[in-house]
Amino acid sequence: MNLLPPSRGTVIGRFAPSPTGLMHLGNAWSFFLAWLGARASGGRVILRHEDIDPDRSRREWMDAMERDLSWLGLDWDEGSSHGLHAPYHQSLCSPLYERALDKLKAQGRVYPCYCTRKELRILAGAPHGAADGLGDAGAAYPGTCRHLSAEERAQKEAEGRKPALRLLCPDNDVESFTDLVLGPQRISMKDCGGDFALRRSDGVWAYQLAVVVDDIRMGVTQVVRGEDILLSTPRQLLLYRLLGATPPSYAHIPLLCDEQGERLAKRHHSLSMAALREKGCSPAAITGFFAKLAGLQTTDAPASPARLADRILHEGPFPWHSLPPGPLVIPHDAPEAWR
Ligand code: GLU
Ligand code: ZN
Repeated sequence: MNLLPPSRGTVIGRFAPSPTGLMHLGNAWSFFLAWLGARASGGRVILRHEDIDPDRSRREWMDAMERDLSWLGLDWDEGSSHGLHAPYHQSLCSPLYERALDKLKAQGRVYPCYCTRKELRILAGAPHGAADGLGDAGAAYPGTCRHLSAEERAQKEAEGRKPALRLLCPDNDVESFTDLVLGPQRISMKDCGGDFALRRSDGVWAYQLAVVVDDIRMGVTQVVRGEDILLSTPRQLLLYRLLGATPPSYAHIPLLCDEQGERLAKRHHSLSMAALREKGCSPAAITGFFAKLAGLQTTDAPASPARLADRILHEGPFPWHSLPPGPLVIPHDAPEAWR
């Protein structure tokens, strides 16, 4: 697959699906661009299953995810069960997250938060920056438990409350980065929700910490994901800094939505890869449609990812600027043309 010598293959991209349901068109769009962004730069791709939440993750959805990626023509160099950076399942990485947590604790940045989910919902008002699978880590937090005294903590413990662990994020801290799609960004930690969770009160590791620890240890240099996760990026950049690592470049891509303006999600069953396959849709027709949507070709003629990567590879850097601003509406009858 890699057509150029490794010297140009500096992009290490990744698929980081949460196995909480079947792959739908919106996931496929992200994976398509993550794959193409790496392959069309002569780079490599890693598959990591973000099965961090035991209650929501299922083995069968990981298998389905791999089947659907392969069906679409999106391959990976390492991940799943093979490669130098195993484990590729977040459920197996607790000791690694623990070690990162210790580093943050040593910097005096971690504190226990005893707020219940209900209290948090009331405190947060709107779920600011919440994204699929982010749980409480996506909600704004006003720092209620930041300065509890030792006595207050002891009392909460005595009441039987189990704390979540949060990262102290000074309100006026600002993170700046240049997004490959959205351009220069300057976002304060306050605007992306304040002190965020590193571990939930039930012991489940938070997305923010896990994703950073894994991207660091796997050497990921380019992260392509939906615009809905933009407000997680400053939090993750802060973690990179505190953990002494170099962050990747980011491409936050426009979301796909239905004709009602609702973001495509797992509940759009008819747009799961499984449903589309069953309907007789061709994977190259879907990726050809994506290529047009991304401004990579002028028509939606069927095109395999490999062919697209080959063409872009010879044309120069990946044209992230060709992506139109989102959200992008998928007409309900779009799949008819993919058969
Ligand atoms: N597992 C996360 C999700 O599916 C990954 C987000 C990311 O790419 O960082 O939302
Ligand atoms: Zn709290």
